[in-house]
Amino acid sequence: MQEKQKPYAYAKSLELFARAAAVIPEGIYGHQNPAFVLPGACPYFADRAQGGHFWDVDGNQYIDFQCGYGPVVLGHNHPEVEDAVREQMAKGSCFNHPTRLMVDLAERLTSLIPAADWAAFAKNGSDVTTWAIRIAREYTGREKIVMARGAYHGAHAWCTAYPGGVLDDEKKHILSMRWNRLDDLENLADGHKDRIAGIILTPYHHPTYAAQEMPAGGFWEGVRKICDREGIVLIVDDIRACFRLDVRCSPHYFNIDPDILCVAKAMANGHPISAAMGRKNFRESAEAVFFAGTFWSSPAPMAAALKTLSILESTDAIPKMERLGRKLKTGLEELGQKHGFRVTASGPAALPYLTFDDDPDLYHIQAFSRHMISRGIFLHPHHNWFICAAHTDEDIDYTLETADEVFPEVRKEMES
Ligand code: PMP
Repeated sequence: MQEKQKPYAYAKSLELFARAAAVIPEGIYGHQNPAFVLPGACPYFADRAQGGHFWDVDGNQYIDFQCGYGPVVLGHNHPEVEDAVREQMAKGSCFNHPTRLMVDLAERLTSLIPAADWAAFAKNGSDVTTWAIRIAREYTGREKIVMARGAYHGAHAWCTAYPGGVLDDEKKHILSMRWNRLDDLENLADGHKDRIAGIILTPYHHPTYAAQEMPAGGFWEGVRKICDREGIVLIVDDIRACFRLDVRCSPHYFNIDPDILCVAKAMANGHPISAAMGRKNFRESAEAVFFAGTFWSSPAPMAAALKTLSILESTDAIPKMERLGRKLKTGLEELGQKHGFRVTASGPAALPYLTFDDDPDLYHIQAFSRHMISRGIFLHPHHNWFICAAHTDEDIDYTLETADEVFPEVRKEMES
């Protein structure tokens, strides 16, 4: 349980950051850059983690609602997963060949996931989303790829939102539509007849800096119908939500019928592995698009994945995350209302996110997150949160008690 030890201070984080800034571009780069969270008001460096909690380098303890940005699904340092990893590491962690674990894992996924007749493994989400769009191009002989505005599919040039080092040519064939807008997709299909190779969409919309949006009734059926009519390959990027909503992954949860499915994050409870899976008819094209990485067949994350999947299948981890997430979402909305705010807790219960309805500059959610973090609840102001199976009712109760203190602080701050 959380100990009350406020206010939190970050002296060691700041000291380390000064050292980092001297030798590492940006000090901390990418999504972990403090500028994306709350510079000066959040920890920059972690020390250790256990279950649903982590400790930063200053010794501050947090209920961890970011879970490593999703991978930690059973809880940090899960004993059975870590035993499986240690057992494999004792045999070796990097060989000239894959091990039997790669075959075991591919068999496991293809028997578990309806859209998967084959599976291949890499390390990052970006590895498999980029491979998937190339498979779509190889299969169709076409060049265009459709994605939803504001969606994240990785840091590679074709999909990054950041312009640095990206040639116009690398995005020349990327088309965008608004989430849930079948009319946009129809217009693109009309305007680029026989030129669209694939469409890549997340199972629901989880943009940064905005509320999450679930698929509207009929959206996925409509996307499938347009893809079938136009010969477009349907790629579902389930990297963020996979195995958290449904052990058969989000297409099963939302009743989506993808051609190619990309997963990563929660697959191995924090160990680095991603996978692309697909239907039989895309296998030949998958074989024609060279796919390799030095570390991609490393066996320890595969051992972790096999163990994580069997725990997700044999325990109440998934319904538990759903129940705790629902309690958190409902509790936060009620508390917001009690304190005179209009707030929305959006997205699936196990991946919730809070927005203030009248908050164009995001000051409200930033103040809310800052006060929560300084009281030991790690929430991201701009990115969806994650529940893990090691969170407890006490964690959620403590979070809600803390939010009851924090909403008035936000009010005070906004009035001053
Ligand atoms: N797709 C989605 C939906 C993601 O959330 C992410 C990572 N946040 C990626 C792709 C890219 O994964 P990675 O950071 O492992 O390359």
